[in-house]
Amino acid sequence: MSEIPSLEQLHALGAAQQPTYDDPAAVAAAVARLRTMPPLVFAGECDDLKAKIAAASRGEAFILQGGDCAETFVGATADNVRNKLRVLLQMAVVLTYAASVPVVKVGRLAGQYAKPRSSDKETRQVDGESVTLPAYRGDAVNGFDFTPESRRPDPQRLLEVYHASASTLNLVRAFTTGGYADLRQVHTWNSEFVRNSPVGQHYEAMASEIDRALTFMQAIGAGDPDEFHRVDFYSSHEALLLEYEHAMTRIDSRTENPYNVSGHMVWIGERTRQLDGAHVEYFSHISNPIGCKLGPTATADDALALAAKLNPTNEPGRLTFITRFGAERIRDGLPHLVEKVTAEGVDVAWVCDAMHGNTFETSNGYKTRRFEDVLDEVQGFFDVHRALGTIPAGILVENTGDDVTEIIGGGEELDELGLAHRYESVVDPRLNRVQSLELAFLVAEMLRR
Ligand code: PEP
Ligand code: MN
Repeated sequence: MSEIPSLEQLHALGAAQQPTYDDPAAVAAAVARLRTMPPLVFAGECDDLKAKIAAASRGEAFILQGGDCAETFVGATADNVRNKLRVLLQMAVVLTYAASVPVVKVGRLAGQYAKPRSSDKETRQVDGESVTLPAYRGDAVNGFDFTPESRRPDPQRLLEVYHASASTLNLVRAFTTGGYADLRQVHTWNSEFVRNSPVGQHYEAMASEIDRALTFMQAIGAGDPDEFHRVDFYSSHEALLLEYEHAMTRIDSRTENPYNVSGHMVWIGERTRQLDGAHVEYFSHISNPIGCKLGPTATADDALALAAKLNPTNEPGRLTFITRFGAERIRDGLPHLVEKVTAEGVDVAWVCDAMHGNTFETSNGYKTRRFEDVLDEVQGFFDVHRALGTIPAGILVENTGDDVTEIIGGGEELDELGLAHRYESVVDPRLNRVQSLELAFLVAEMLRR
């Protein structure tokens, strides 16, 4: 890895989706402060995740990446973090048990605070007048409230991202290694409203089988491996804001290679994957496992050029292509891409983001998705890979551990009117806890075949 370019050099390449700050000195001060902060993750952990992603790309594991579209500072509470973790642990155990495959658990959390937007401005009617303000770009940049003060990009928020991420990750580490993720807890994860739903009952039955299996293992003296008591859980986010990501990049003392130490895995969004742009350049210099979104406009040549730039040594586990075609396009669009990348011998993990190609706005003004479209895209993803003899390595979802109403359909048959009941996302709609579990059982079926 060569030395990483300076922030100025990166900006000179033209960076898409950056905030327009009005106080350069305040930006410089925030960046300088961030550069002194301890790492949130360690290079060795990033390497471990890379090895696991490599295993998934060979079909020996399956990646489950999930969490909020956009975390918020007020959402960084103990309850919230526990609920998110709990639903991901439940999904993971469903996939592991039903499909007998190790699950690589990656949260969209502890850093997922910056959002790309389709427009730099937002216009709303306020007291009968049309008001235009900067678009909300995530808590890392500005506030969600539609006022000039709140929407002004504030570089101090970059430090708040660091602190909120640190406390989230600290809690995640405590939960995943301190007993909460113990397999003996599979029943307790199924608490509250979920237990009474049909999918909750399904889960309950599976949890009892796991209990019996554990008791059996103990009875025959098969030991009590560490894996029964703790899980490896990794953090990930879209590395969008150059100021933050650059300031959180450090040289690993073991290898002398630069790592982004703000998350184990970082990814490049659909709107910032320009081959000669600042993001791709930055990512080419860090050693973390990285993702790159590929939407329906991505050609096979784009994918090959990105792989050549982002993973020139073809290191297994280094690069994940996260495809997000939409249910309607995946069966036509994906095969050519996978075929050509595979034919060129490019080593990549294919993950299906079944969310971002399926978003639409309802007549009552909610941004939503249909559960059936999400499911159909995952099915299409599996179909394409199975037909080509390639490996579906994982899925990416936007979900929450709460009982929100943001996605239409699923077993509870949420409809458009029902969205108003509890719509809390500040950006994209998320699967609620029941929908997340339903999806896990359905994906487990696809994996098993
Ligand atoms: C996201 O993952 O929240 C996102 C913005 O995705 P994409 O870059 O694929 O649109
Ligand atoms: Mn999103």
